[in-house]
Amino acid sequence: MTSPIWHPFTQHGLGDPIPRIVRTEGAALHTSDGRRIVDAISSWWVTTHGHRHPRIMAAITEEAGRMDQIIFAGWTHEPAETLAHGLVAIMPEALRHVFFSDSGSTAVEVALKMALGYWRNRDEPRDRILVLEHSYHGDTIGTMSVGERGVYNRAYAPLLFDVGTIPFPHPGAEQATLDALEAACRAAPAAFIVEPLVLGAGGMLIYPPHVLAEMRAICARHAVLFIADEVMTGWGRTGTLLACEQAGVVPDILCLSKGLTGGAVPLAVTMATAAIFDAHLSDDRARMFFHSSSYTANPIACAAANANLAIWRDEPVHDRIATLGARQAAHLDRIARLPGVTNPRRIGTIAAVDLQVGDRGYLSDLGPKLLRFFTARDLLLRPLGNTVYVMPPYCIDEADLDAVYAAIEEACATLL
Ligand SMILES: *Cc1c(COP(=O)(O)O)cnc(C)c1O
Repeated sequence: MTSPIWHPFTQHGLGDPIPRIVRTEGAALHTSDGRRIVDAISSWWVTTHGHRHPRIMAAITEEAGRMDQIIFAGWTHEPAETLAHGLVAIMPEALRHVFFSDSGSTAVEVALKMALGYWRNRDEPRDRILVLEHSYHGDTIGTMSVGERGVYNRAYAPLLFDVGTIPFPHPGAEQATLDALEAACRAAPAAFIVEPLVLGAGGMLIYPPHVLAEMRAICARHAVLFIADEVMTGWGRTGTLLACEQAGVVPDILCLSKGLTGGAVPLAVTMATAAIFDAHLSDDRARMFFHSSSYTANPIACAAANANLAIWRDEPVHDRIATLGARQAAHLDRIARLPGVTNPRRIGTIAAVDLQVGDRGYLSDLGPKLLRFFTARDLLLRPLGNTVYVMPPYCIDEADLDAVYAAIEEACATLL
Protein backbone atom coordinates (compact mmCIF):
# COMPACT_ATOMS: atom_id res chain seq x y z
CA MET A 1 0.00 0.00 0.00
CA THR A 2 1.43 3.40 -0.87
CA SER A 3 1.92 5.83 1.98
CA PRO A 4 -0.38 8.83 2.34
CA ILE A 5 2.61 10.86 3.55
CA TRP A 6 3.65 13.89 1.50
CA HIS A 7 7.33 14.27 2.36
CA PRO A 8 9.17 17.61 2.57
CA PHE A 9 11.57 18.56 -0.24
CA THR A 10 10.75 15.27 -1.99
CA GLN A 11 9.64 14.78 -5.59
CA HIS A 12 7.42 11.74 -5.20
CA GLY A 13 7.17 11.45 -8.97
CA LEU A 14 10.77 10.26 -9.21
CA GLY A 15 9.79 7.14 -7.31
CA ASP A 16 12.88 6.97 -5.11
CA PRO A 17 12.33 4.51 -2.25
CA ILE A 18 11.86 6.12 1.16
CA PRO A 19 13.76 4.14 3.80
CA ARG A 20 11.94 3.52 7.05
CA ILE A 21 13.83 4.25 10.27
CA VAL A 22 12.99 2.20 13.33
CA ARG A 23 15.70 3.22 15.79
CA THR A 24 18.36 5.88 16.24
CA GLU A 25 21.50 5.82 18.31
CA GLY A 26 24.62 8.01 18.38
CA ALA A 27 25.62 8.75 14.79
CA ALA A 28 23.43 5.99 13.34
CA LEU A 29 19.92 5.44 12.00
CA HIS A 30 18.68 1.85 11.83
CA THR A 31 16.22 0.90 9.09
CA SER A 32 13.35 -1.55 9.12
CA ASP A 33 15.29 -3.79 6.72
CA GLY A 34 18.21 -4.03 9.14
CA ARG A 35 20.58 -1.48 7.65
CA ARG A 36 22.73 0.82 9.82
CA ILE A 37 22.91 4.27 8.20
CA VAL A 38 25.62 6.74 9.24
CA ASP A 39 23.95 10.11 9.77
CA ALA A 40 26.60 12.38 8.25
CA ILE A 41 24.36 15.48 8.20
CA SER A 42 22.97 15.26 11.74
CA SER A 43 19.45 14.63 10.40
CA TRP A 44 19.43 18.02 8.67
CA TRP A 45 21.66 19.83 11.14
CA VAL A 46 19.69 19.25 14.34
CA THR A 47 21.51 16.42 16.14
CA THR A 48 24.52 17.81 17.99
CA HIS A 49 25.78 15.35 20.65
CA GLY A 50 24.31 12.29 18.94
CA HIS A 51 20.93 10.61 18.54
CA ARG A 52 19.17 9.70 21.81
CA HIS A 53 21.73 11.13 24.20
CA PRO A 54 20.82 9.32 27.46
CA ARG A 55 20.53 12.52 29.54
CA ILE A 56 18.22 14.21 27.07
CA MET A 57 16.05 11.10 26.77
CA ALA A 58 15.90 10.76 30.56
CA ALA A 59 14.91 14.42 30.96
CA ILE A 60 12.09 13.97 28.42
CA THR A 61 10.81 10.84 30.18
CA GLU A 62 10.98 12.49 33.58
CA GLU A 63 9.21 15.69 32.51
CA ALA A 64 6.51 13.65 30.76
CA GLY A 65 5.67 12.28 34.19
CA ARG A 66 4.87 15.80 35.39
CA MET A 67 3.60 18.09 32.63
CA ASP A 68 2.44 18.21 29.04
CA GLN A 69 1.72 21.42 27.10
CA ILE A 70 0.40 24.33 29.13
CA ILE A 71 -0.61 27.81 27.98
CA PHE A 72 2.37 30.18 28.19
CA ALA A 73 0.57 33.53 27.82
CA GLY A 74 0.33 34.73 31.40
CA TRP A 75 1.47 31.37 32.87
CA THR A 76 4.90 29.87 33.45
CA HIS A 77 6.61 26.65 34.54
CA GLU A 78 9.87 25.45 36.02
CA PRO A 79 11.46 23.91 32.88
CA ALA A 80 11.02 27.18 30.94
CA GLU A 81 12.25 29.32 33.86
CA THR A 82 15.33 27.13 34.32
CA LEU A 83 16.03 27.19 30.60
CA ALA A 84 15.62 30.96 30.26
CA HIS A 85 18.03 31.55 33.17
CA GLY A 86 20.42 28.97 31.74
CA LEU A 87 20.39 30.63 28.32
CA VAL A 88 20.87 34.12 29.71
CA ALA A 89 23.84 32.78 31.69
CA ILE A 90 25.70 31.28 28.72
CA MET A 91 24.67 33.56 25.85
CA PRO A 92 26.09 37.11 25.41
CA GLU A 93 25.25 39.23 28.42
CA ALA A 94 23.25 41.86 26.55
CA LEU A 95 20.69 39.23 25.47
CA ARG A 96 18.57 39.26 28.61
CA HIS A 97 15.14 38.31 27.30
CA VAL A 98 14.05 34.92 26.01
CA PHE A 99 11.00 34.45 23.78
CA PHE A 100 10.00 30.84 23.15
CA SER A 101 8.65 29.26 19.97
CA ASP A 102 8.93 25.94 18.21
CA SER A 103 11.02 26.07 15.05
CA GLY A 104 13.85 27.96 13.42
CA SER A 105 11.48 29.62 10.95
CA THR A 106 9.27 30.80 13.76
CA ALA A 107 12.27 32.09 15.73
CA VAL A 108 13.17 34.19 12.67
CA GLU A 109 9.59 35.40 12.15
CA VAL A 110 9.56 36.43 15.81
CA ALA A 111 12.87 38.28 15.35
CA LEU A 112 11.50 40.21 12.37
CA LYS A 113 8.32 41.09 14.27
CA MET A 114 10.36 42.20 17.29
CA ALA A 115 12.45 44.46 15.05
CA LEU A 116 9.43 46.11 13.44
CA GLY A 117 7.66 46.34 16.81
CA TYR A 118 10.72 48.04 18.29
CA TRP A 119 10.66 50.81 15.69
CA ARG A 120 6.88 51.18 15.72
CA ASN A 121 6.72 51.44 19.51
CA ARG A 122 9.41 54.11 19.44
CA ASP A 123 7.16 56.05 17.03
CA GLU A 124 9.85 55.93 14.34
CA PRO A 125 8.35 53.20 12.13
CA ARG A 126 10.85 51.41 9.94
CA ASP A 127 9.98 48.31 7.95
CA ARG A 128 12.76 47.53 5.49
CA ILE A 129 14.87 44.43 6.16
CA LEU A 130 18.39 43.97 4.81
CA VAL A 131 19.59 40.47 4.03
CA LEU A 132 22.75 38.80 2.82
CA GLU A 133 22.74 37.26 -0.66
CA HIS A 134 22.36 33.41 -0.69
CA SER A 135 20.84 33.37 2.81
CA TYR A 136 18.35 30.84 4.13
CA HIS A 137 16.14 31.61 7.11
CA GLY A 138 13.24 29.16 6.72
CA ASP A 139 10.32 28.18 4.50
CA THR A 140 7.46 30.34 5.78
CA ILE A 141 6.37 33.36 3.74
CA GLY A 142 8.26 35.80 5.98
CA THR A 143 11.44 33.76 6.16
CA MET A 144 11.39 33.03 2.43
CA SER A 145 11.12 36.79 1.92
CA VAL A 146 14.41 37.36 3.73
CA GLY A 147 16.06 34.36 2.03
CA GLU A 148 17.56 33.69 -1.38
CA ARG A 149 15.02 33.58 -4.20
CA GLY A 150 15.11 30.55 -6.47
CA VAL A 151 13.27 27.55 -7.86
CA TYR A 152 12.23 26.55 -4.33
CA ASN A 153 10.16 29.72 -3.79
CA ARG A 154 9.41 30.99 -7.29
CA ALA A 155 5.73 29.98 -7.08
CA TYR A 156 5.28 32.10 -3.97
CA ALA A 157 7.26 35.15 -5.14
CA PRO A 158 4.13 37.34 -5.44
CA LEU A 159 3.57 36.95 -1.69
CA LEU A 160 7.16 37.65 -0.62
CA PHE A 161 8.00 41.13 0.66
CA ASP A 162 10.75 43.25 -0.80
CA VAL A 163 14.10 43.34 0.99
CA GLY A 164 17.49 44.97 0.45
CA THR A 165 20.06 42.37 -0.60
CA ILE A 166 23.72 42.85 0.33
CA PRO A 167 26.20 40.91 -1.86
CA PHE A 168 27.85 37.89 -0.25
CA PRO A 169 31.43 38.66 0.90
CA HIS A 170 33.27 36.37 -1.52
CA PRO A 171 37.05 36.26 -0.95
CA GLY A 172 38.51 39.50 -2.25
CA ALA A 173 35.09 41.18 -2.45
CA GLU A 174 34.58 41.78 1.27
CA GLN A 175 34.88 45.56 0.97
CA ALA A 176 32.09 45.63 -1.64
CA THR A 177 29.82 43.87 0.86
CA LEU A 178 30.67 46.32 3.62
CA ASP A 179 30.24 49.33 1.30
CA ALA A 180 26.85 48.04 0.12
CA LEU A 181 25.74 47.50 3.71
CA GLU A 182 26.91 50.97 4.74
CA ALA A 183 25.02 52.55 1.83
CA ALA A 184 21.86 50.54 2.56
CA CYS A 185 22.02 51.46 6.25
CA ARG A 186 21.95 55.18 5.39
CA ALA A 187 18.32 54.70 4.28
CA ALA A 188 17.41 53.74 7.88
CA PRO A 189 16.16 50.15 7.46
CA ALA A 190 14.70 48.34 10.48
CA ALA A 191 17.18 45.48 10.66
CA PHE A 192 19.85 43.40 8.98
CA ILE A 193 19.54 39.61 9.33
CA VAL A 194 22.52 37.29 8.83
CA GLU A 195 23.67 33.72 9.24
CA PRO A 196 26.96 34.29 11.11
CA LEU A 197 30.12 32.94 9.40
CA VAL A 198 28.44 30.26 7.29
CA LEU A 199 25.42 30.27 5.02
CA GLY A 200 24.04 26.75 5.38
CA ALA A 201 21.37 26.04 2.80
CA GLY A 202 23.01 28.60 0.50
CA GLY A 203 25.76 26.01 -0.05
CA MET A 204 27.92 26.07 3.11
CA LEU A 205 29.39 29.41 2.05
CA ILE A 206 31.91 30.55 4.66
CA TYR A 207 33.09 34.11 5.27
CA PRO A 208 35.62 35.39 7.80
CA PRO A 209 34.91 36.68 11.33
CA HIS A 210 36.31 40.15 10.62
CA VAL A 211 33.60 40.68 7.97
CA LEU A 212 30.91 39.67 10.46
CA ALA A 213 32.43 42.06 13.03
CA GLU A 214 32.52 44.89 10.46
CA MET A 215 28.91 44.25 9.40
CA ARG A 216 27.85 44.39 13.02
CA ALA A 217 29.78 47.65 13.58
CA ILE A 218 28.17 49.27 10.52
CA CYS A 219 24.69 48.37 11.79
CA ALA A 220 25.55 49.73 15.24
CA ARG A 221 26.79 53.02 13.74
CA HIS A 222 23.49 53.46 11.89
CA ALA A 223 21.27 52.12 14.69
CA VAL A 224 20.08 49.31 12.40
CA LEU A 225 19.07 46.26 14.45
CA PHE A 226 21.39 43.29 13.92
CA ILE A 227 19.66 39.90 13.88
CA ALA A 228 21.89 36.82 14.11
CA ASP A 229 20.19 33.67 12.81
CA GLU A 230 22.23 30.99 14.62
CA VAL A 231 19.60 28.30 14.06
CA MET A 232 22.19 26.18 12.24
CA THR A 233 25.47 27.71 13.47
CA GLY A 234 24.60 27.65 17.18
CA TRP A 235 25.50 24.95 19.69
CA GLY A 236 29.07 24.34 18.62
CA ARG A 237 28.64 23.70 14.90
CA THR A 238 31.27 26.26 13.91
CA GLY A 239 33.67 25.31 16.72
CA THR A 240 32.33 27.72 19.34
CA LEU A 241 28.99 27.76 21.16
CA LEU A 242 27.88 30.61 18.86
CA ALA A 243 29.51 31.58 15.57
CA CYS A 244 29.18 35.24 16.66
CA GLU A 245 31.70 34.56 19.43
CA GLN A 246 34.51 34.15 16.89
CA ALA A 247 33.91 37.72 15.74
CA GLY A 248 33.28 39.18 19.19
CA VAL A 249 29.81 40.07 17.93
CA VAL A 250 26.76 40.52 20.14
CA PRO A 251 23.57 40.82 18.10
CA ASP A 252 20.46 42.77 19.13
CA ILE A 253 18.37 39.69 18.43
CA LEU A 254 19.52 36.06 18.35
CA CYS A 255 17.60 33.09 16.88
CA LEU A 256 18.30 29.58 18.19
CA SER A 257 16.64 26.25 17.45
CA LYS A 258 17.96 22.97 15.92
CA GLY A 259 20.64 22.06 18.54
CA LEU A 260 18.79 23.79 21.40
CA THR A 261 17.39 20.44 22.55
CA GLY A 262 20.42 18.57 21.22
CA GLY A 263 18.16 17.96 18.22
CA ALA A 264 15.81 15.64 20.10
CA VAL A 265 12.52 17.57 20.03
CA PRO A 266 11.33 20.84 18.49
CA LEU A 267 11.96 24.08 20.37
CA ALA A 268 13.23 27.55 19.49
CA VAL A 269 14.06 30.79 21.22
CA THR A 270 14.51 34.34 20.07
CA MET A 271 16.70 36.25 22.53
CA ALA A 272 16.64 40.03 22.65
CA THR A 273 18.37 42.95 24.34
CA ALA A 274 16.71 45.08 27.00
CA ALA A 275 16.19 47.83 24.39
CA ILE A 276 14.00 45.54 22.26
CA PHE A 277 12.06 44.24 25.25
CA ASP A 278 11.67 47.71 26.78
CA ALA A 279 10.25 49.10 23.53
CA HIS A 280 7.32 46.72 24.07
CA LEU A 281 7.08 47.45 27.82
CA SER A 282 4.23 49.81 28.62
CA ASP A 283 0.89 50.02 30.38
CA ASP A 284 -0.62 50.18 26.90
CA ARG A 285 -1.83 46.74 25.82
CA ALA A 286 -1.55 47.76 22.16
CA ARG A 287 2.26 47.74 22.57
CA MET A 288 2.62 44.17 23.80
CA PHE A 289 4.39 41.65 21.59
CA PHE A 290 1.63 40.01 19.58
CA HIS A 291 2.96 36.53 18.97
CA SER A 292 2.39 33.01 20.21
CA SER A 293 2.49 29.46 18.88
CA SER A 294 0.33 26.77 20.47
CA TYR A 295 3.37 24.85 21.64
CA THR A 296 5.33 27.83 22.97
CA ALA A 297 7.82 26.68 25.64
CA ASN A 298 6.54 23.10 25.68
CA PRO A 299 7.66 21.78 29.09
CA ILE A 300 8.99 18.49 27.72
CA ALA A 301 10.98 20.30 25.04
CA CYS A 302 12.30 22.75 27.66
CA ALA A 303 13.38 19.81 29.83
CA ALA A 304 15.28 18.39 26.84
CA ALA A 305 16.97 21.78 26.33
CA ASN A 306 17.89 21.93 30.02
CA ALA A 307 19.54 18.53 29.64
CA ASN A 308 21.40 19.90 26.61
CA LEU A 309 22.70 22.80 28.72
CA ALA A 310 23.77 20.33 31.43
CA ILE A 311 25.67 18.32 28.80
CA TRP A 312 27.46 21.49 27.71
CA ARG A 313 28.30 22.19 31.37
CA ASP A 314 29.38 18.69 32.42
CA GLU A 315 30.71 16.88 29.37
CA PRO A 316 33.80 17.64 27.24
CA VAL A 317 31.69 18.98 24.36
CA HIS A 318 34.36 21.48 23.28
CA ASP A 319 36.94 18.67 23.10
CA ARG A 320 34.63 16.52 20.98
CA ILE A 321 34.02 19.42 18.63
CA ALA A 322 37.76 20.11 18.34
CA THR A 323 38.50 16.42 17.68
CA LEU A 324 35.80 16.18 15.02
CA GLY A 325 37.04 19.43 13.47
CA ALA A 326 40.61 18.11 13.24
CA ARG A 327 39.44 14.82 11.67
CA GLN A 328 37.29 16.72 9.19
CA ALA A 329 40.31 18.88 8.29
CA ALA A 330 42.50 15.84 7.62
CA HIS A 331 39.88 14.18 5.39
CA LEU A 332 39.22 17.44 3.58
CA ASP A 333 42.95 17.87 2.82
CA ARG A 334 42.94 14.48 1.18
CA ILE A 335 39.77 14.76 -0.90
CA ALA A 336 40.62 18.32 -1.96
CA ARG A 337 43.37 16.83 -4.13
CA LEU A 338 40.97 14.63 -6.12
CA PRO A 339 40.25 15.65 -9.71
CA GLY A 340 36.97 17.55 -10.01
CA VAL A 341 36.92 18.66 -6.37
CA THR A 342 37.03 22.41 -5.77
CA ASN A 343 36.58 24.97 -3.00
CA PRO A 344 37.41 22.78 -0.02
CA ARG A 345 36.25 24.61 3.09
CA ARG A 346 35.68 23.97 6.74
CA ILE A 347 34.47 25.74 9.81
CA GLY A 348 34.38 23.86 13.11
CA THR A 349 32.55 20.56 12.55
CA ILE A 350 31.35 21.43 9.02
CA ALA A 351 33.35 20.45 5.93
CA ALA A 352 32.31 21.04 2.31
CA VAL A 353 33.57 20.75 -1.25
CA ASP A 354 32.10 21.59 -4.64
CA LEU A 355 32.17 19.02 -7.40
CA GLN A 356 32.96 20.35 -10.83
CA VAL A 357 30.07 19.63 -13.16
CA GLY A 358 28.44 21.44 -16.03
CA ASP A 359 25.16 22.28 -14.33
CA ARG A 360 25.31 23.77 -10.87
CA GLY A 361 22.69 24.90 -8.46
CA TYR A 362 19.95 23.22 -6.53
CA LEU A 363 18.52 21.27 -9.47
CA SER A 364 21.88 20.04 -10.69
CA ASP A 365 21.42 16.46 -11.99
CA LEU A 366 24.37 15.45 -9.89
CA GLY A 367 22.42 16.03 -6.64
CA PRO A 368 19.96 13.12 -6.96
CA LYS A 369 22.68 10.85 -8.39
CA LEU A 370 24.90 11.53 -5.38
CA LEU A 371 21.99 11.09 -2.99
CA ARG A 372 21.21 7.63 -4.43
CA PHE A 373 24.90 6.74 -4.47
CA PHE A 374 25.32 7.57 -0.77
CA THR A 375 22.03 5.97 0.31
CA ALA A 376 23.10 2.75 -1.43
CA ARG A 377 26.25 2.83 0.74
CA ASP A 378 24.24 3.23 3.96
CA LEU A 379 25.11 6.89 4.38
CA LEU A 380 22.88 9.87 5.02
CA LEU A 381 24.52 12.60 2.97
CA ARG A 382 22.34 15.08 1.12
CA PRO A 383 24.31 17.28 -1.26
CA LEU A 384 23.17 20.86 -1.90
CA GLY A 385 23.29 20.92 -5.71
CA ASN A 386 26.94 20.15 -6.54
CA THR A 387 28.10 20.91 -2.99
CA VAL A 388 28.86 17.87 -0.84
CA TYR A 389 29.14 18.64 2.85
CA VAL A 390 29.69 16.58 5.98
CA MET A 391 28.15 17.80 9.24
CA PRO A 392 27.91 14.82 11.59
CA PRO A 393 26.87 14.59 15.24
CA TYR A 394 29.82 15.30 17.55
CA CYS A 395 29.89 11.68 18.75
CA ILE A 396 30.71 10.18 15.32
CA ASP A 397 33.67 7.81 15.63
CA GLU A 398 36.68 7.54 13.37
CA ALA A 399 35.48 4.43 11.54
CA ASP A 400 32.14 5.98 10.60
CA LEU A 401 33.77 9.23 9.46
CA ASP A 402 36.29 7.22 7.41
CA ALA A 403 33.39 5.40 5.73
CA VAL A 404 31.75 8.74 4.87
CA TYR A 405 34.88 10.07 3.17
CA ALA A 406 35.66 6.75 1.45
CA ALA A 407 32.20 6.99 -0.16
CA ILE A 408 32.80 10.60 -1.20
CA GLU A 409 36.10 9.57 -2.80
CA GLU A 410 34.39 6.71 -4.58
CA ALA A 411 31.62 9.06 -5.76
CA CYS A 412 34.19 11.45 -7.21
CA ALA A 413 35.92 8.59 -9.01
CA THR A 414 32.70 7.09 -10.42
CA LEU A 415 30.36 10.02 -11.02
CA LEU A 416 32.64 12.87 -12.13
C1 LIG B 1 17.07 25.34 9.41
C2 LIG B 1 17.21 26.81 9.44
C3 LIG B 1 16.10 27.65 9.69
C4 LIG B 1 14.70 27.11 9.78
O1 LIG B 1 14.53 26.28 10.87
P1 LIG B 1 13.26 25.29 10.89
O2 LIG B 1 13.30 24.69 12.24
O3 LIG B 1 13.50 24.30 9.79
O4 LIG B 1 12.05 26.11 10.65
C5 LIG B 1 16.33 29.00 9.81
N1 LIG B 1 17.55 29.52 9.68
C6 LIG B 1 18.63 28.76 9.44
C7 LIG B 1 19.97 29.40 9.33
C8 LIG B 1 18.49 27.39 9.29
O5 LIG B 1 19.57 26.63 8.99
